[in-house]
Amino acid sequence: MTAILRKGRALVAGGAGFLGSHLCEALLEQGMEVICVDNFMSGHLANLEGALTHPKFSYLEADVSAPLPAEVMERHFDEIYNLACPASPPIYQRDPEHTLLTSVLGTHQLLQLAERTGARFLLTSTSEIYGEPLEHPQRETYRGNVNPIGPRACYDEGKRAAETLAFDFERMGRVQVRVVRIFNTYGPRLAPDDGRVVSNLIKQIQGGGSLTIYGDGLQTRSFCFVADMIAGLITMMRYEGEQPGPINLGNPEEVSILELAQRISQLTGVPIDLEFLPRPCDDPHRRRPDITKAKTVLGWQPTVSLDQGLASTISWFKTGSDADPLVTSG
Ligand code: NAD
Ligand code: UDP
Repeated sequence: MTAILRKGRALVAGGAGFLGSHLCEALLEQGMEVICVDNFMSGHLANLEGALTHPKFSYLEADVSAPLPAEVMERHFDEIYNLACPASPPIYQRDPEHTLLTSVLGTHQLLQLAERTGARFLLTSTSEIYGEPLEHPQRETYRGNVNPIGPRACYDEGKRAAETLAFDFERMGRVQVRVVRIFNTYGPRLAPDDGRVVSNLIKQIQGGGSLTIYGDGLQTRSFCFVADMIAGLITMMRYEGEQPGPINLGNPEEVSILELAQRISQLTGVPIDLEFLPRPCDDPHRRRPDITKAKTVLGWQPTVSLDQGLASTISWFKTGSDADPLVTSG
């Protein structure tokens, strides 16, 4: 991000996670005071290593689906970012009841806090709200094809209900909201045991194992590098027009999972060895964002190619250091 100095205080719920920790650092770099709230279910203190030494950073261990601690409720905030929710399918399916309540109750509590303190509120919704899409690429006007009783529903329907809550608060004039629908994002700090495809494949190739491909590997995703995504989140939060969203944020470069495996093999120089496993239930076949709205409304589009982003991520998995310029240059 270009460092534009900014005063004020931000709350980042889910700030110890993959995206949240990069967001905390970007906001601190801009001069904001940042308070992170996280229950550390899929986030890690190690992600906050850089932020912890910053005088304007603090964190609180708390679950957003339970009443928020007084230390949070009694503070004034200018910006509230809600990223609290596990994003990896195996992790969010471990305790589906908690996942659904995290999205619904967590969003409700944070909206109420935003209303009380006059903060702007940004919800990180997801491309998963489109389910198994019958429209391709997906535009924001598409209403989706989610199985409401399947194993992914705790996440998909939780986010759909969270969007509903956000738009109800906006319509009632109670909170200024911003809603983004994030498409698959990857980069340094993806937890190695997270279970998502990029972290799985890189970890497997570096460990000398076979790459696990679920189904035939012809299903597609469109992968966005983390620095681009963080730039998009902040741009949307600060957007001053009448548009609360939803706005798709993602990289429209669509690849099959087999192609992703090939790219990782080429970049690491390790010959490809595949292990085909059953395809998870309700796993979408195709996914690619139409980002026309992000381009025209926000002037935002991704700048990091898949090969550049994968190279940076591979290097982070090898060294554990994300002192890579791609990480912070949106
Ligand atoms: P992540 O799992 O790394 O981070 C989520 C963070 O939220 C973790 O630190 C976790 O401990 C915390 N959290 C979970 N439940 C909580 C609760 N009840 N109370 C407090 N904290 C809680 O995932 P991520 O990839 O960083 O995703 C961040 C947000 O972006 C999520 O809301 C996710 O739905 C959304 N999103 C991410 C992607 C992606 O590809 N990364 C795609 C679509 C949407
Ligand atoms: N996937 C895979 N091997 C893995 C992990 C995932 O083939 O080790 C597939 C998964 O079935 C899905 C795609 O990769 O089709 C993306 O999965 P991920 O869990 O990263 O994200 P999501 O399904 O939420 O888009």
